[in-house]
This record gives sequence, structure tokens and C-alpha cells, in this order.
Amino acid sequence: MDTLATQQSLTPQSVLKEFFGYTTFRAGQQDAIEACLAGRDSLVLLPTGGGKSLCYQVPALMLQGVTIVVSPLISLMQDQVAQLQAQGIAAEFVNNSVEWQQQQHIYQRLHNGEIKMLYVAPEKVLQREFIDRLRNLSLSLFAIDEAHCVSHWGHDFRPHYCRLSELKQLFPHVPTIALTATADMATRNDIISQLNLNDPFVHTGSFDRPNIRYTIEEKFKPLSQLMRYLKTQKGQSGIIYCSSRRRVDEIAEKLSEGGFNAAAYHAGMDNEQRQFVQNAFARDDVQIVVATVAFGMGINKPNVRFVLHYDIPKSIESYYQETGRAGRDGLAAEAIMYFDPADIGRVRRFFEDITDEQRRKVEQQRFNAMANFAEAQTCRRQILLNYFSEYQREPCGNCDICLNPPKHFDATIVAQKALSCVYRAEQRFGLGYIVDLLRGANTARIRDNQHHNLSTYGIGKDQSNEYWLSVLRQLIHHGLLAQDITQGATLKLTEAARAVLKGEYTLNLAEPRLQASHVYQDKLA
Ligand code: ADP
Ligand code: ZN
Repeated sequence: MDTLATQQSLTPQSVLKEFFGYTTFRAGQQDAIEACLAGRDSLVLLPTGGGKSLCYQVPALMLQGVTIVVSPLISLMQDQVAQLQAQGIAAEFVNNSVEWQQQQHIYQRLHNGEIKMLYVAPEKVLQREFIDRLRNLSLSLFAIDEAHCVSHWGHDFRPHYCRLSELKQLFPHVPTIALTATADMATRNDIISQLNLNDPFVHTGSFDRPNIRYTIEEKFKPLSQLMRYLKTQKGQSGIIYCSSRRRVDEIAEKLSEGGFNAAAYHAGMDNEQRQFVQNAFARDDVQIVVATVAFGMGINKPNVRFVLHYDIPKSIESYYQETGRAGRDGLAAEAIMYFDPADIGRVRRFFEDITDEQRRKVEQQRFNAMANFAEAQTCRRQILLNYFSEYQREPCGNCDICLNPPKHFDATIVAQKALSCVYRAEQRFGLGYIVDLLRGANTARIRDNQHHNLSTYGIGKDQSNEYWLSVLRQLIHHGLLAQDITQGATLKLTEAARAVLKGEYTLNLAEPRLQASHVYQDKLA
């Protein structure tokens, strides 16, 4: 492979020092830079904050000609270019927001060889007129930032990214470096094939974010759980992700009424409003953003102290990206997810409507991995990193499972109480009603059904709602109860329940984890 012409006196080390003021490369940077200098395609997978930009900025400064950086977000482009210019580097950007006259000026300088890095939006780079310009330039490198946007399966899919492979066809001798913070295997392979990377050098960095503490909390009354949590946060910045716009609006409103400094963000709001919220959050004028996944790329706020998932995300990849917005400054941060096992069924039904079969399968598989993660009782970080093929031998010590290991107890009697309650109520009722019966609640519905006269009425009043809900969910999980979704999710006893009712074996259940994130809070204060 040819080594591209470089400016002789420069070395990666000297550029690092001279232009960026750093003395040592971080893991992966030097190898990626050398691949670019050698004219080889490469794929760099590093978590956010891992230092991806230098991987193409250093070669851009060393190689003769101009490096074209494709970046999907105008705001990111502007920030990066402003920063480079402040360091005395000849960088510019063009996108459809730049005025015609200014663009002409930039093109003039480009043709004079005065620009080392040109940032371009993906839709722009493929315009006929722009391609024609590129033909007349000496090109050193294509850098494709946020390269996971080519992946159909990802949450950030952008149609323009798919067409970027045309660059390879038009300019086969210009090396391409693709960069992303998404590490999932399917996406990796997708990037390589979609961008037509030729035998690329691949660098995968560690995706561990040791300062983030992962917690999954069982979802009971999520709004009160949330309020209780936020009260412990005392004005810290955070993001709350919800699965629908309606829920976002509803929760943002409830939080505001509750005296919290919160704002909503979703794709149903107009651009101006969204920009306003994002800026206010960046300036700490808004403490909490309640958002859908639309609140994503381009949030570079270093001091986000918590990311809370009100609903289960659709993939581990999304979960990792979203939780990854916490603790960019390296200080302790929290990722909390509220989990109701019933949501698994709800999300699964949603996938059934996807008509493209392959897409449906991929989405389902990804969601299955997410559901397994949520239900697992093993170190959260081990599962997460394993998913990204980064095998961890030791549990992390900084997740709810490590800090507060699940305890099991002989639940035979507890289960018998719950199961007989379902039986006495003739297997015609759902979770909430059975919990009420167990706790001896005085509701109109129970009186109407004469259920306050049942022998099992109130046999569980020594325990909380949450406790019984958790027990009933586990009984479903263990196959002792089944939910009949065709009949309003009524609970029915399964064959296996009989043996437990007869006391034929000992049933162990996990002790219900009520308020998981607070239990160990002082342990690590
Ligand atoms: P990414 O694009 O992977 O999210 P950036 O390229 O924005 O990350 O880099 C994150 C931060 O780390 C930036 O402030 C950058 O200047 C800094 N950084 C990158 N490489 C080095 C290095 N070798 N030494 C010191 N700081 C670095
Ligand atoms: Zn752990």
C-alpha cells in the first residue's frame, strides 16, 4: 500500500504536541493515525470522550491536501471547527445553513489549498456540484464521524449516510476513517459493508464507564419513585428518558408542578423550542430534561449526574448510548432504569407491526438481549460489556447487584397466600386486584364482588403493595401464574402452582427490592 505524501517534518507526536498541546496518545489513537497515513481504511470504536477526533485531525494536518469530515449535526460541526480555528488550524464547515457568499469564499480558499479540514453535512457531500468540486482537489482523507448512522437497525439511522459508499466508488484512492461510539457487533459489520471499507484497520476501545453506577429498580409507582429520587439529587443535572412523547409531556408537567426545574424534549416540538431546551440545559438553566430518544447526539454536557430510564429501552445499544450521557466529566454519576416485567410484552407486541421481516428479527433479538439484561441478577456492567464483546471476569462493585446483592428467601408460605388468593377469586382478576385482596383493601370493586368475605381477604396485609406486586411478578416468572392477555391480563394458576399450594416443594424467591437505589446510597456516600 502506498504511503500518502506527508509534510516531511511532521510526526504524529509533534503534531499532537504542537497543535493540541498533549504529550501522549490515548489507546488506539496512534494506530488509527498510522493507518490513515498508510492510506488504509479504518474503523475506530471508542466511547464518547475517548478521543476519536484526533484520529483524523492529526493525519489531516500531516497529509497533503484536504480532509473531508462528514458529520451529521450542524451544532457539533460548528463547535469543532470553532475549536480548531482557535488552535490556529485551517478548518471550515459548509452545510445548507452557511450563506452562499460565505460558501463561495470557503471554496475559493479550498481551491487555493488553504484549508486542511472541511466539515460537511452528509446530504451536502453527495450533491453533484460538491462532488465536482472534490474532483478538482487534492483529497487526503475522508473521515465519517458518527458512522453508526449508516446502520438501518440503529436508532440514529440517516438515509444520507447509506449513500456515502459512493465516495469510495468516486475516489477509490482516498482512505476512509469511520468513527463511532457504538460498539454493537451488528452495527460494526454494517458500517464496514455500508461504507465499503476495504480491509479496514479496526480499533475497539474499552467501553467501560467506571464512574457510572448502573441500577435497575423495579417499577411500582414510577412517578412517586421518580420524585423521591429527584429529591435526593438536589439540583443536579439529569435526563429522564421515556418511551413516548405523551409520557414525556405528562412527566415534565408533573415535575414542574412538583417544583422541579424540568423541561420536555421530543421530536413533536418545533426546532426552535428544542434548541431552546437544549441550550438551557447546557447552561444549567434547566436542571432536568424529560425526553424521548430524540434527545441524543450533540449533548456534550459534561456534568450530567444521572440518566434515568422511566421505560425499558429497545436495545442494549440505546441503553448504553443514553446512559453514556451521564458523567462525561469522569465524576460519579448514576444510570437508573425503572423496570416492569410487563413492559417486555408490550414492547414485543409493538415489534409485531414491523412488516420488513429481517428488520423485525433484528429488532426482536436486540430487544431480547435488553430484556435479559433487565431481568438478570448478575453484575450489570459485566453483562453490558460482554454484550460489546469486552469480557469481564470480575463483578464491578459499582452497580446495584454488586452493592446490594439479591437475597433469596423461602417463599413457600408467601406464594401459597398469593396463589390461593388468585384461586379464591376464581382466576378472573389481574395483578392490581389480587394485591388489593391480599392487603385487605377496602375498595368498591372488592365489596361489589363480595370478596371481603373471602377467607384469603387481607392475609397479606403485613406487607406493602410493592412487596406483593414483586412476589406476583416473580410467580409469573417462575411459571406458577400465567397472565391471560386476551382477558385483560387476568391471572390464572398453572399446573405447576398445584405442587406449591400442596406444599410439595420449597419455593425460593428473590427478596423484593424496594427502592433499590436508596438502600445503598449511604454505603458509598
Ligand atoms: P470523542 O469524539 O471520542 O467523543 P473527543 O475527540 O471529543 O472525543 O475527545 C474528548 C476529549 O479528550 C477532548 O477534550 C480532547 O481534546 C481530549 N483528548 C483527546 N485525545 C487526547 C490525548 N491524547 N491527550 C489528552 N487529551 C486528549
Ligand atoms: Zn456490578
